[in-house]
Amino acid sequence: MPNTEIVALGFRPGRAKLPAETAWGVPLEPPIVLSFDVEEHDRIEAAVGLPVSNERRREYADRMATATERLLDQLAAAGNVPATFYVVGQIAETHPRLVRAIAAAGHEVGSHSHAHTSVRRHTAAGFREDLKRSVDTLQQVIGRPVCGFRAPTFSVTRATPWAADVLIESGLRYDSSVFPIRHDRYGVSDAPRHPFWLEGDAGRILELPLLTFQMLGKNVPVAGGGYFRLFPPALVRAGIRQLPAATPAVGMLYFHPWEFDPDQPRLPLQRMARFRTYVGIGKTTARLDDLLTRYRSRFRRAIDVVEELEHQADRLPRFRLAHEHLPAISPVCSPSAV
Ligand SMILES: [Zn+2]
Repeated sequence: MPNTEIVALGFRPGRAKLPAETAWGVPLEPPIVLSFDVEEHDRIEAAVGLPVSNERRREYADRMATATERLLDQLAAAGNVPATFYVVGQIAETHPRLVRAIAAAGHEVGSHSHAHTSVRRHTAAGFREDLKRSVDTLQQVIGRPVCGFRAPTFSVTRATPWAADVLIESGLRYDSSVFPIRHDRYGVSDAPRHPFWLEGDAGRILELPLLTFQMLGKNVPVAGGGYFRLFPPALVRAGIRQLPAATPAVGMLYFHPWEFDPDQPRLPLQRMARFRTYVGIGKTTARLDDLLTRYRSRFRRAIDVVEELEHQADRLPRFRLAHEHLPAISPVCSPSAV
């Protein structure tokens, strides 16, 4: 196959180097997406209902902006590594310059909802309205299309199967909210671990699930957040190493700007939530730097990965959040029914 065709089938060259490819256009080393969920620290799920003073909220908002700017600098210093920032729509209203700076640096801006309300606390209509508002606001501020979504706390689960139809009907090109793990607050443990078509009654949307490491038949979450801070870095690397070269795959990682701000005032959280929220918070900047050096040529924005995956649409598995309705079984015991 001539080179031009290989390139046409493979990942589009961004500013980073194109990874090596097989003759089928599948990268030998699947791409990695660094994604950042941009929210103020007091918006985290564990803080819902906590009394936080207006003064403290303003401080968290300022610190979010500063931490995000530092991340932009860190990505630039590492050789203009491209990333995807899922931004809360209200932040585009309060910090338009920050959101424009993200886009101006060449990163993708996606939606992280408008008010950072978990999908579980929405009705379908409420979710639709919140999503549309966030996308409209972000697009207006950056003057570019918004193509992707990340739900607060990965709250697109089997508890909200209607969310698939809202996403499909939204006109977005992809979603990245499904975490294929078992967890007390989120996760779809039997969802595919690699990109798939999330199907609903209204059609389908491309889903980029968060990175997991499979061990003894179990999916271990290694994609970022608290796991990135708690687990040894070798476990994240093991998850990346496990990405298959033969099927379309992506290492979707996630972080929050507040995780790179070890000196921020602590929220008055319960013991377990406090541990999950603050464990290893002083190590994140160095650990991110290590990833940036180690995987230098493999980073892509999520939208660039989506562009390529759409060329391989038939190779992707399909999955529904709604359980299949099994035919009713007659409860009457009779020889003809057994
Ligand atoms: Zn969030």
